Amino acid sequence: MEFECVIGLEVHVQLMTQSKIFSGSSTAYGASANTQACAVDIGLPGVLPVMNCEAVLMAATFGLAVGATVNPVSVFARKNYFYPDLPKGYQISQYEIPVVSGGSLEIATEEGNKVIRITRAHLEEDAGKSLHEDFHGMTGIDLNRAGTPLLEIVSEPDLRSPGEAVAYLKKLHALVRTLKICDGNMQEGSFRCDANISIRPRGETALGTRAELKNINSFRFVERALHYEIDRQISVIESGGTIAQETRLYDPDADLTRSMRGKEEAHDYRYFPDPDLPPLAISRADLEQLRAQLPELPDARQARFISEYQLSEDDAAQLTSETEIADYFESALEQAGGESRLAANWINGELMSWLNKSDLLITESPVTPAMLGQLIQRIRDNTVSGTTAKEVFAALWDGEGGGNVDTVIEKKGLTQITDTEAIAGVVSKVIQAFPKQAEQVRSGEEKVIGFMVGQVMKATSGKANPQAVNEELKKQLLG
Ligand code: ADP
Ligand code: MG
Repeated sequence: MEFECVIGLEVHVQLMTQSKIFSGSSTAYGASANTQACAVDIGLPGVLPVMNCEAVLMAATFGLAVGATVNPVSVFARKNYFYPDLPKGYQISQYEIPVVSGGSLEIATEEGNKVIRITRAHLEEDAGKSLHEDFHGMTGIDLNRAGTPLLEIVSEPDLRSPGEAVAYLKKLHALVRTLKICDGNMQEGSFRCDANISIRPRGETALGTRAELKNINSFRFVERALHYEIDRQISVIESGGTIAQETRLYDPDADLTRSMRGKEEAHDYRYFPDPDLPPLAISRADLEQLRAQLPELPDARQARFISEYQLSEDDAAQLTSETEIADYFESALEQAGGESRLAANWINGELMSWLNKSDLLITESPVTPAMLGQLIQRIRDNTVSGTTAKEVFAALWDGEGGGNVDTVIEKKGLTQITDTEAIAGVVSKVIQAFPKQAEQVRSGEEKVIGFMVGQVMKATSGKANPQAVNEELKKQLLG
């Protein structure tokens, strides 16, 4: 039997506010344990939560950006459960009426673009953290994270492969960073995902029973966890078993998922409207103001890159996958004399591979947009060939020439030979050294010219202008 998988994601986006969602304590990451949790965050008797307006505006901004309904009135609810990192016994969340309903994101798949529907996005507070390591066999509780504002974004079960799930996550990640509502730091848990997955026989329309993979904080781990889960569920069903509705944890070291607990049903949480908080109202005027302030969104930027800079869809998609990459590109282009495709190739190719190798962010690149732009100018005006330019790039990366492209080219003697006389000299030497190949070219085997060009390039250590070499070879061999 052939199976297909069905995936729906719940993404917890930590909103970039200075203070907590219902109190004035700081949200800064990395403080010593339990120094940033006040009486409200841990729900001591007699305290009252006060809504952080900034968090509401951020949630509404998200809703506008995904074409959702931002509900004029939404309601906070208590989600009741016991867990050591939740001393007050309930989490303030939204249930029946969330701040954002509907909306969608479009992802690129092998079969073309696909719309993934968003069910809702609701505001809630984060819980504390249990620390199981370094406690001499005991577990510690750090409540600093309690009350940190989260926007939980829930998708419809529209995703059909681990690859689509990752594409959706990356799209969402780029979006919330562009909107400046989340710093997107996955290692610190600012953007984390619960992946729900079930399988069903291909052609079946009813949903199978899902497993929920909790709190995965890397794109790669989401993909691996989902692949593992598909195989596991198929083998359970094929050996006659049934899938349990449960919460599972992914273990990246062992590359497998383990059952953590049976999955609660919503009614187990006894949701009820929080009596401490009035309904949350957002005025139409506020919404219109937020709409007017929306930045250019990644999809729009991608479309503009295609039309304004004549880039391919792939190049434009890669460049707009992160705001900082797109910013780098546009900034480099200011220096690059309109060579948009060359700039795109250099950024998506050479620059990315150096960044990956050095594990750096594009904002940390030792080669600045201005340097790359200047280098592209020098390719364009034939000072250096594309091949030599890579050498210049490497030198700039290592901080040579004080970051000045021309200084590096001069110091390393990399100026391209465009002087026809100099090229003619090398060409005639190469013709003498390879009489057989020269004869082949003369008798019409045009392809062999490539070999001859290669020999001239070799003789000039890559500094000759390949086009000039080509022309000179034709002139000397074919007249
Ligand atoms: P809960 O909080 O109980 O996990 P939610 O409604 O918040 O429930 O989230 C459910 C998520 O699981 C949604 O993203 C939804 O698309 C997805 N989902 C629901 N049923 C299935 C299923 N059978 N297979 C895969 N995903 C599912
Ligand atoms: Mg869930």
